[in-house]
Amino acid sequence: MIDLKDLDPASLEAFFAERGEKPFRARQVLRWVHQRFAANVGEMSDLSKPLRDTLATLAEIKAPAVIRDTTASDGTRKWLLDAGNGNAVESVYIPEDDRGTLCISSQAGCALDCAFCSTGKQGFNRNLSTGEIIGQLWHANRTLLADGTTAPWIEQGRPPITNVVMMGMGEPLANFDNVVPALRLMLDDRAYGLSRRRVTLSTSGLVPQIDRLREECPVALAVSLHAANDSLRDRLVPINRKHPLKDLMAACVRYLPAAPRDFVTFEYVMLDGVNDSISHADELIALTRNVPCKLNLIPFNPFPGSEFRTSPRGRILDFQKRLQDASLVTTVRKTRGEDIAAACGQLAGQVKDRTKRRLATRIVAASTQ
Ligand code: SAH
Ligand code: SF4
Repeated sequence: MIDLKDLDPASLEAFFAERGEKPFRARQVLRWVHQRFAANVGEMSDLSKPLRDTLATLAEIKAPAVIRDTTASDGTRKWLLDAGNGNAVESVYIPEDDRGTLCISSQAGCALDCAFCSTGKQGFNRNLSTGEIIGQLWHANRTLLADGTTAPWIEQGRPPITNVVMMGMGEPLANFDNVVPALRLMLDDRAYGLSRRRVTLSTSGLVPQIDRLREECPVALAVSLHAANDSLRDRLVPINRKHPLKDLMAACVRYLPAAPRDFVTFEYVMLDGVNDSISHADELIALTRNVPCKLNLIPFNPFPGSEFRTSPRGRILDFQKRLQDASLVTTVRKTRGEDIAAACGQLAGQVKDRTKRRLATRIVAASTQ
């Protein structure tokens, strides 16, 4: 059975062409799946009954299995989704004053093993399919609409998610072939119709894939920098040993002419006593001198067993001021959904590990029954 969410617009057109159907069938089906959030082919009432019947034998719309659905006091909502074999991934809805952002995962686990990341500590489980990636946006819109969620930016009956950030679990550029079709669905007017500026992909710095993204589907780019010299970055973000800072900065500069925004966002997690001194700020200023960019300082989100502590607030503000004094636009990420440990890019190792254990127990229990 094909999951219709696995097919980007071009693949869906090809799917119908192969079966002797007109290209506008793709438009109809995209609208049913990604704008009306249909959960089965039977709902597609403007398709002829015979076509619906045939389609139903070939394809389905696989809804993600929700393990847990939690809403924090600030409205941040986190869905823990089953990824099979005892794995789970998270997507997080973050309502702000003028937008609704969804933080999406691209892999179950991650192979890149950044020193401060709980996803990395889990190791790599598997790539999510295109259907599972776009399914997070499908599910969030569908659920929020069904719940009658209101917010100033939500027009009557319109999907509540206005922005997507690929900053959940996993390295999106390490799952390029499934991520790009999902991005195409986010951007296509027949599906979600988000502008490129409202879709941000965050990468730890896979240089060749940054170039590929520029050529194939340039969306707003965020790069997880975390250190401005190679020896420290080698330790914090091990992929730096393969793609050092000089190459990464060059890739960012190459990306910009194609990018929907005229800057790259650099993310910088603030680790107490590790990368947060004034001299580190000065290194960062020097490194980014020739790259139009904005800086986003992320207070480290601790998790059990992590070797780091969050920088004290005062040090984060001093660091920010040093960068601002050098004319770098620098924000400090707000901690959201603290009571459910759901802030974007700071997904909760503790919750995941607990769930993983529980799932593992459930699977063991099921297999011994
Ligand atoms: N793999 C991609 C995207 C997912 S991580 C990347 O690394 O960019 C999204 C962001 O959260 C990254 O900037 C990542 O470095 C950061 N992050 C990971 N673990 C964190 C933690 N424990 N506290 C704060 N930020 C963290
Ligand atoms: Fe993977 Fe990103 Fe975590 Fe690094 S920070 S281990 S690249 S998810």
